[in-house]
Amino acid sequence: MRPERPPDFPPIRIGYGYDIHRLEPMPPHGSGRSFRLGGLEIEHTAGPVGKTDADTLLHAITDALLGALGMPNMGMLFEENDARRHSFDSQVFLQEACRRVRDAGWELGNLDATVILERPKIANHRDAVRDNVARVLGVSPDRVNIKAKTHEGVDSIGQGLSIEAHVSALLYRRDFAFSRAGQNEMQ
Ligand code: MG
Repeated sequence: MRPERPPDFPPIRIGYGYDIHRLEPMPPHGSGRSFRLGGLEIEHTAGPVGKTDADTLLHAITDALLGALGMPNMGMLFEENDARRHSFDSQVFLQEACRRVRDAGWELGNLDATVILERPKIANHRDAVRDNVARVLGVSPDRVNIKAKTHEGVDSIGQGLSIEAHVSALLYRRDFAFSRAGQNEMQ
């Protein structure tokens, strides 16, 4: 008799996250606002604006993880009366999404992110951003890929007025096991 299909089959899930934030000139030093990308501060004359630290990359990653779990988006992570909901450190949102991933029995296989912005150039920050994102996720850096590209001068992104991020993330069941023959034991 064919065994009953386990509830989490197939033992992989894909998620997709997207975010965009408007860029505005940076206020005088000491205002508390900065250009945050992947949890790191990047020097620039303009920065993203939003209700939080407007970390576009972390928001897109958070939504990709939640999407893989079948959840709507970052806004549902915390109750309205939870102070963390209004955090100015978006690493808090990502950490909560990671907790939910692991509590549900899943692990991050890898994620692939594309950040689209005209300025500043982030090539010099790419490795540091990847390492910090991996640290927050609790995975090795080789599971995280960060790419950046410009928008060729087109639309608000190309005019340096906004920043966008797209992220794909793959989750796998922690308890997924392979037989010695390499066959999926859940078949
Ligand atoms: Mg956002």
